[in-house]
Amino acid sequence: MRGLQAGLALLILALAVLLPLHLPGVADSAWLSTSLAAAITALGWGLLGTWRVRALLAWLRQPRERAAPVLGGAFAELIYRIERLLDGARRDAERERLRLQNFLSAIEASPNGVLLLDANEQIVWLNSQAADHFGLHPERDLMQRITNLVRHPDFVRYLQSNQYQQMLTVPLHDGRSLALTLRHYGEGARLLLSQDVSERERTEAMRRDFVANVSHEIRTPLAALTGFVETMATLPLQEGERARVLELMRQQSQRMQSLVDDLLTLARLEGSPRPPADAWWSLDDLLDLVQAEAQGLSAGRHEFVWPQARTGLALAGVDSEVHSALTNLLSNAVRYTPPQGCISLSLERLEDGGLQLSVQDNGPGIAAEHLPRLTERFYRVDGSRSRATGGTGLGLSIVKHICQRHGGQLRIESEVGRGSRFSLCWPANRVRSA
Ligand code: ADP
Repeated sequence: MRGLQAGLALLILALAVLLPLHLPGVADSAWLSTSLAAAITALGWGLLGTWRVRALLAWLRQPRERAAPVLGGAFAELIYRIERLLDGARRDAERERLRLQNFLSAIEASPNGVLLLDANEQIVWLNSQAADHFGLHPERDLMQRITNLVRHPDFVRYLQSNQYQQMLTVPLHDGRSLALTLRHYGEGARLLLSQDVSERERTEAMRRDFVANVSHEIRTPLAALTGFVETMATLPLQEGERARVLELMRQQSQRMQSLVDDLLTLARLEGSPRPPADAWWSLDDLLDLVQAEAQGLSAGRHEFVWPQARTGLALAGVDSEVHSALTNLLSNAVRYTPPQGCISLSLERLEDGGLQLSVQDNGPGIAAEHLPRLTERFYRVDGSRSRATGGTGLGLSIVKHICQRHGGQLRIESEVGRGSRFSLCWPANRVRSA
């Protein structure tokens, strides 16, 4: 390139000097020859300048694709300055691109859905959570009107109301619930935030059910007690009647007491840390205790089958909790098995080194459809029988909790008319020889 420039300059010079000498009749005119040389030189420089400007423009049109032309003089300085500006702009653009990338990655990492809408309710951008929440495709659905894709009437009304002070909760077709918040930004654009609140709603529903159940359970004996108090206050009762009413009052207050005790047990189980895995105690001592209690409760109405030999085992955990679990299972067996029925407690070492403690009876059994719900709080198959025998509907829920806290599980097998078997499966790391 430099060679080309130098050649062009030499050519112009040669023409400027030689041409006037060869023109007939003008060689002796010094003034004319000088003027002609000057004109040719100016023309040459003009052509050279034009060529340089063209080269510069051609490069400026595609500065990224083409290498900068090598031009001399002020053009070299100009190109150097432009290149510096372009480099700076390129660096700024790259920095901004990285910032935007970071920003989008942060929004992408959010557990909430984020979706941007333009003034025409078209989707401009969405993160993958929003795509999941609304069942949208993160690329294919861009620039689609959101109301064509998310047609829930409550959502459409909310979007078009332009009143976004409150958030909206909508149930999804798959049973989940979404909390939606809309905000205006820019010129007519909107930001839609979505949050999966299914778990929160479920917990809230459980809390409401629980409060309703507890109130219901307490209201019944309380109403009975109030009635008895009024009877005693208003009616002149014989000694025998008085004793009978007092006994009924004792039963009702006992019922409330059991309910409060079970509720406190559940609250304690939920609030306390996981039982230690190194607090060992003798299983045989515990079995002696629960056998005596079950026989006392049955008062000779049932036949019992206990493990023949001493187990010689120690279990790790909270012994009072395991005591409570076994007592609950044995007391259920006594309460639901008719007189003369048979109740057995058996132990079995599991293949993985764990231990299974089973309480079996030949009572009425439980229909298969009830089995999955049996450990829910206040779930009863036969409510009147449960209450008549002092049940609170919380026993199996407590047993399941205790098992899970110790890393084990409660297994329930039952058949109507044949009886039931409730097994506590104890993990291997909490069983050893005493
Ligand atoms: P409850 O205090 O009502 O006995 P539980 O949680 O201990 O509450 O038991 C839940 C329900 O399971 C009981 O109401 C009863 O219908 C059924 N059930 C529990 N154990 C037995 C059993 N051994 N035989 C038959 N039904 C049982």
